[in-house]
Amino acid sequence: MGADAVTEEAPETAADAVTESTADTAAGAEMDRVTETAARTNTALETAAANEPSGGKRRVLRSVCPLDCPDCCSLLVTLEGDRVVEVDGNPDHPVTRGAICAKVRSMPDRIHHPERILYPMRRVGPKGSADAAAFRRISWEEAYREIVGRMNEAIAEHGPQAILPYSFYGNMGILNAEGMDRRFFHRLGATRLDRTICSVAGSVGYGYTMGASAGIDPEDTVHAKLIWIWGCNLASTNMHQVMYATEARKRGARIVHIDVHRNRTSAWADEFVAVRPGTDAALALGIMHVLIREGLTDASFIAERTVGYEPLSAKAAEYPPERVEEITGVPADTIVRLAREYGAASPSYIRIGNGLQHHDNGGMAVRTIACLPALTGQWRHRGGGAIKSNSHYSALNARQLERPDLLADPSTRTVNMNRLGDALLTLNDPPIKFLFVYNSNPAIVAPDSGRVRQGLLREDLFTVVHDLFLTDTCRYADLVLPATSHFENLDLYTSYWHLYVQLNEPLFEPMGECKSNFTVFKELGLRMGFEPEIFGISEEQMIREALDHPDNPYLADVTFERLKERGWMKVGLKGLSLYEEGPAPTPSGKIELYSERMRNDGLTPVPEYTPVGGEEEDLPFLLVAGPNHGFLNSTFGNQEKMKKLEKRPTLHMHRDDAAALGVASGQPVRVRNGRGEIRIVVRAADDVLPGVLVTQGLWWEDGYEGGQTVNALTSQRLADMGGGATFFSTRVEVLPLDADS
Ligand code: SF4
Repeated sequence: MGADAVTEEAPETAADAVTESTADTAAGAEMDRVTETAARTNTALETAAANEPSGGKRRVLRSVCPLDCPDCCSLLVTLEGDRVVEVDGNPDHPVTRGAICAKVRSMPDRIHHPERILYPMRRVGPKGSADAAAFRRISWEEAYREIVGRMNEAIAEHGPQAILPYSFYGNMGILNAEGMDRRFFHRLGATRLDRTICSVAGSVGYGYTMGASAGIDPEDTVHAKLIWIWGCNLASTNMHQVMYATEARKRGARIVHIDVHRNRTSAWADEFVAVRPGTDAALALGIMHVLIREGLTDASFIAERTVGYEPLSAKAAEYPPERVEEITGVPADTIVRLAREYGAASPSYIRIGNGLQHHDNGGMAVRTIACLPALTGQWRHRGGGAIKSNSHYSALNARQLERPDLLADPSTRTVNMNRLGDALLTLNDPPIKFLFVYNSNPAIVAPDSGRVRQGLLREDLFTVVHDLFLTDTCRYADLVLPATSHFENLDLYTSYWHLYVQLNEPLFEPMGECKSNFTVFKELGLRMGFEPEIFGISEEQMIREALDHPDNPYLADVTFERLKERGWMKVGLKGLSLYEEGPAPTPSGKIELYSERMRNDGLTPVPEYTPVGGEEEDLPFLLVAGPNHGFLNSTFGNQEKMKKLEKRPTLHMHRDDAAALGVASGQPVRVRNGRGEIRIVVRAADDVLPGVLVTQGLWWEDGYEGGQTVNALTSQRLADMGGGATFFSTRVEVLPLDADS
């Protein structure tokens, strides 16, 4: 069978296959694909050296996936001339090993999409119009002149804090996500943006326990004998962890999925444990209760490598399984069995997901779960421990990249990106008069989207959006600037899961008049008269500055030259993890089951459970809006193939709740709260616990009848730590479509 036939007929990824059959089949299908890809790649690379374009000939070049996904895959891109005809995995990459997801296989459709923006545009129609005719083409010269003029005007009238950048990681390339842009806004003195929408609450919580965003090497997870996947749909969001876990299972490991929703990962795991949203800390405390009560802890590891065992065990004593069952919905005997399995298995590994931190109590939930491997001494065993994030190991030199020293006034205010709506509508002294959006689509992704849109509609707000497509946010823009895809950029990529740094070289010239974020902010900086030695540098210079990080010993051997030659380099982690030996990077030098730092920060110093809530607690359902399989946040939400794969926004509801409401699978309902209302089709089953609703995927406005998207319902309320988002603590009611308001 030829490679093309494999592409057409085989499941697209391990994760796709998971839904169709078993994980072993998934891994097998993916490895068949990898073998096919390797053969095809070797042939292609004989005729074209990696990343040396060869005219119009068909050639295969190396690249990196730019999406906000832990896997950070190495790609092989087949080009005919400057046209991407196929995107595949690179079988030579030690972790991603040639397997990629369906989303990125469809990347050629995205790159050459007929609706891609290829030149700057100015709005001529009303703000909020979905009509492409609401914009007319202009030159970059006109665009730059207007941006500089408007910025200077805002600064003259209100000061530089009247300007707000809004960005996240639509492209994870370091230069384009946190490089020249940061320098530009620091130098300008603009209002700072706290980029808190994704993982901050859990990272802060994990940091209180462990000291840094550091876990074990995921390549070691094949050695685990017990794997808990907690709060994450791995099959859709970390597929190479599925592959490692599948290998571990072949060696005898058992895999348990703990989550609020039975999904693709549950179908692949050996056991699914349904937990009520926002009760993960209680479940972890219940497991600790049993571990401690039954003597299943590692006394020598606790004594040598942790502080605070006594107060933690006193807290865990308050959480007997029967009480935890009432809180979490997990039966008491299941809690006891899970704890006994965890206490007996070694090495055991916990993959802590991003889902469970998007609650009012999300930081504490992650902090609490992070205590479990320490109680059983797992950090001493290859394959034992946990990963929440591994970004600590590949941390680049942010001081050089972002140049915070350029900010003249250290008291410059900060806006939390989860409160964009309020910032646009209520900030005074000065008000936000200029908004610059890039690498993000806040009209869809930011919480409380009704408020965000109301703010974006302000006629006295000048908004610039730099993107590849006319997103829903662009509808409110005064200027739209065409962005390159990452295939057109030189950039550096790190993973927050595996330990490889990768270089991405441009595969072809920018399409149309597209420019990268790096180039736009470089050129704007120079037009503003900023220092040429800081703003006039090349991408390569900035990469060298980012890699030159004396405070990060793991990066010592990673150089631009080596990356250019090899494509990737593994950071220099010696041993199993940061916690195997030597001091932990906490104030005490030990894993902190009790944290004095938390107490000083006004938080409870030992793990505890507090119920989610805060707003509209009388509403009967808790709604969780997680990621789907075919989009990444709102990326791909305008791509027909991926929309077709996802079909339509769906509301997963327990069958008893559906029966009580008199609705059946396939029927549309209204989901509403005080912030907004969406219309969505129900799937009634036992995929969630009663009282819980789950919908997946950030669909664009046209995905919903009525135009309001799921973030019309979510709140600008912040989590317990780091100013994180509380997307998953959303209280709603559900009404049949024909019910009175
Ligand atoms: S989205 Fe994730 S799994 Fe898919 S290709 Fe990119 S890094 Fe790999």
